Amino acid sequence: MISRFSALLASTLVEPTLAFLLPHSNLTSLVSRHGSLAEKSARYSSSTGATLQSIVDSLRSGSVNQVMIVSGAGVSCSAGIPDFRTPGSGFSRDDLSIRYDNLHKFNLPYPEAIFDVDFYAKDPMPFVTLAKEIWPGVKYKPTLTHCFFSLLNKKGLLQRVYTQNIDGLEAVAGVNPDKLVECHGHFRSASCISCRSVYDAELCKTNMVEKGEAPSCSVCGGIVKPDITFFGEVMPQRFAQLIHDDCASTDLVIVLGTSLMVAPVANIPDWVPNGCTRLLVNRDVVGTFRIDNVNDVILQGDCDEGVRELCRLLGWEDELDMIFYGLK
Ligand SMILES: [Zn+2]
Repeated sequence: MISRFSALLASTLVEPTLAFLLPHSNLTSLVSRHGSLAEKSARYSSSTGATLQSIVDSLRSGSVNQVMIVSGAGVSCSAGIPDFRTPGSGFSRDDLSIRYDNLHKFNLPYPEAIFDVDFYAKDPMPFVTLAKEIWPGVKYKPTLTHCFFSLLNKKGLLQRVYTQNIDGLEAVAGVNPDKLVECHGHFRSASCISCRSVYDAELCKTNMVEKGEAPSCSVCGGIVKPDITFFGEVMPQRFAQLIHDDCASTDLVIVLGTSLMVAPVANIPDWVPNGCTRLLVNRDVVGTFRIDNVNDVILQGDCDEGVRELCRLLGWEDELDMIFYGLK
């Protein structure tokens, strides 16, 4: 397995991040049109293997206590955050036109420029403008799904959250940063793009969010940015440091709100041990999840609805709401 990891990591070390703003206004109607989650559970759970009820029983009994979360843009939809995606994830020509339209306000020469480190060195303002909007805890608040991760953490059941998102809402919801692997970086640290000197993250936030400008490095005078992975930059080492042991020791993987199309995160559900239960909470059946896989349970629909249903069955709904409504 190690060599497989190495090959995959080597091929995906430069994993660019790009924001695309896609409409989500029809999300609720999509879910209701396709039936309730309870119906979905009955339809999609294997009759001979894992079921939603068996997951509930194992979590309540404590026989499962190393829960790995793999999440994507879908977990942040209800926060109103634009859909963050990475290039190469199979966009159609229509998707491209949506991307260009939504990024038009940044006046970019090409959409990817907003996360291009060379472009940032010449013109940091488009990213600064975006950063002002999406800086964690400033405008957008965690969703019920982020609060579920926090509840798992509080109960000592969370092994790790692997997220493709850069919105940082897991930490805002109360997930301990030790439990987080933000595969494309985060806003809690900052550094110079020229000499890589560490820059105070709070000072970076003040400069970008309040003053609307990119800070300068006190060592070399270069431009500073939050440690979000840009095009041409290497993914945070934390992923490679933790993924092997986490996959070997997890006893339940829950995949939420992702198309599972961008490696290496897309491969995580296939790296867990044989026999490990995999729960998918998503609008579509993705990756290698299959209705007839005995270890797969699929809740097809909105993430927040799926999480609420799971917590209701677990008897955790009140605790979940306390976290969600307790957020400032
Ligand atoms: Zn510097």
